[in-house]
Order: sequence, then C-alpha cells, then structure tokens
Amino acid sequence: MSIYLIVLDGRNPASPAAEKKQRQRLKMSQEKKDAQREKERLSKNAKRQEETQEDNAQCRKINCEYMKRKRLFETQEERLKRRKTNRYSMTRKRETETEEQGAKRNKTNRDSMRRKRETEMEEQGAKRNKTNRDSMRRKSETETEEQGAKRNKTNRDSMRRKRETETEEQGAKRKKTNRDCLKRKREEKRHQFQNDRKDCNGEDMSNVIDRATKEAKQFLQRTQDPANPHMHRAIVCIICDRFIIGTETIHKLTKEDIGVHSGRLGVKSYEEFYQTTLKDEVKRQYRVQGLQDMLLSPRSRKYPDGYATCSICYSAMQPQMACKKTPPKFAIANGFVIGSFPREIKFLNKNGQRLTRKVEDDGITDTLKAVSRFNVRYSSRSGSTTLEF
Ligand SMILES: [Zn+2]
Repeated sequence: MSIYLIVLDGRNPASPAAEKKQRQRLKMSQEKKDAQREKERLSKNAKRQEETQEDNAQCRKINCEYMKRKRLFETQEERLKRRKTNRYSMTRKRETETEEQGAKRNKTNRDSMRRKRETEMEEQGAKRNKTNRDSMRRKSETETEEQGAKRNKTNRDSMRRKRETETEEQGAKRKKTNRDCLKRKREEKRHQFQNDRKDCNGEDMSNVIDRATKEAKQFLQRTQDPANPHMHRAIVCIICDRFIIGTETIHKLTKEDIGVHSGRLGVKSYEEFYQTTLKDEVKRQYRVQGLQDMLLSPRSRKYPDGYATCSICYSAMQPQMACKKTPPKFAIANGFVIGSFPREIKFLNKNGQRLTRKVEDDGITDTLKAVSRFNVRYSSRSGSTTLEF
C-alpha cells in the first residue's frame, strides 16, 4: 500500500509522527523552536554516546539511505532550498568553530575526498576534474583583483609547503603533471585562437565579443572598493602617488621590496638634497604604516601580495636599483613632496588668543591651495623636470 502511495504522490511521504512534529513546529515561537532543537540535539548526542560502533554505523547507514531516497524524489525547488540551508548551516558552523575544529573538519574532508578519488573510475575522475576546473574558471572570472591575489597567494603558499616535504619521486611526478598541464593549456589556447580566426572569417564574432566583454568588465571591476563593494576607489601608485588608470598593469611591491630602497626614498636623503626640513604634518601625509621615514603614498591600495605600483615606478624599483642614489623619476621622493592643505589651522587673534579653525575642502580657493605648495621647491634629482618657485 505504501509503495502504491509513493508512486501516486511521486515523492517519499514523511511518517505520521514526523508530520505531527512538523505541524507543531510551525506553531512554535522562534525561542521555543531553538530550545526544542537544543533538547533534541542533546538527547541525540547522549544516545550516540551509549551506542556501540556497530549501532552507530547502522544508524548512519539508515540515515544515509533515507536521505538518498529523499533526494531522489525531491522537486527542483526543494533541492535548491536544501542546498541553500546546507550552505548557510556550514557557513554558520565555520564562523563559530575553533581553529582545532576547523583543522579537523578540513582533514575529514580531505580524507573523504581521497577515499572517493581512490575508488572512482577513470571516467568519474575525468568528470570530477572537469567540474572542478569549470567551477574554478567561473569563480576566477567573477572575482575582484583582491580576491584573485588572495587566491593566488594561498595557492603559492600551499604549493611551497607541499614542495618542501615531498620526496624526489613525488617531485618528478609533480613536474611531469605540470608539464602536461602546460601542454594541454597551450593546446587549448591554440585551438581557441584557431576558432577565433574561423569565427572572424565566418563573421560570427559572438565568441570574440563575449571574451572581450568579460575582459573589459574585469578592468572596470578592479577599482571596486573591497570594504564597500558598491563603491569604487581609484588605484594609486605607492611610489609616485599618481593614478593607475585604464588597462595599465597594476604591479605589486611588498613592504620588504620597498624597504630595500629606504635610502633613495627616505626623508633624510630628501632633506639633505633639498637642504630643507620637512614639517611633521607633511611627513605624516606621506607615511605608510610599517615603512617609517620614507616618502610614500598612503592612498595606495594594499593587496595580499603587495601595494599597487605603476609600471614606471615598478621598473625603477627592481632590487638591483636599490644602490642608486636617485629615486625613480616620478617618485614622491624625487621632488614631489607637495602635501595638502592642513585640516586644521591654529592662529592668534587680535586679543592674543590661540584659536583653531577647521578647514573644509570647499573652503579653500585654488589660489590658497597653490600658495600652500610654495614652501616646497620643485626640482627633481633624476629626470629632466626642474621647476623652482
Ligand atoms: Zn608610480
């Protein structure tokens, strides 16, 4: 009879007891629901503690079978809902777990994946690899520059750790896999190129246009502010304080990379060359945390693999240039310490009282802005610009 019902309904019906429970749950307040859940969890855990390993395995098997059956009959809507709930519950779990629990979870996942891989057929393996590749490609197409840089860094670190502990044999195997993968990629690229040519000749440009659109979107997205994804913020070079615009490459310099050049970009050498003393306020405006006494742009964006740098400065900041006396041509340290109008000015009034006035941006005229820059001599130590005021 029950089989007959299943066929009629098209799905696996819940037991009457479960249905009753569900009806009761619908009437409960959220607090009561939570309390009820906690109670059930505790009683389940207590039960689990008592049962033997065999009972446990049996229970698991029954649950597993039940879930499988349920999945078999669920509608598209139900499947999406189940997946969403699972994702949500996993995220919540990960957020509250300790480092130890996280490591344990990762290990369990890795082990289960390994076991799965060991027993799978070649066809299944190829399918799994393809799914993974596709999902990674989709992910990398929509990610921001920051996310990409972070992903790359994590990958590099994990690869380095792996290389450090591998045997010679494993190393040789890895190298071979890499070579094969490169070959496959080159092959794919060649194929793509040929297809593009064919498309162009056949006047079916849609593939070419799709890819170009994707690329353009990535360029547009790179100014997105990671702290506030609805806003965009220009990308500024840490060495010269200029914008990196359009499709210009964003190079990265780490603190260590920049630190090597502390002599060329330092406050001290600037003051010596221009025979001046920079005011604290101005020095503060060009200070980057962790790189003391250097003239850099705090407006520059920090990526996981370094600060944004323009192509011109990047080529002038190579390690072998560190011994040079002169800074990169357009570096702040090359005579471009301009500073901005102070946010607050202190002055004495007629009665000799010391007053402070806040300065708003729209309260400064262009002339005032220019005057504030006159206390700096414009000349550069490298390159051809020489402006003296
Ligand atoms: Zn630059």
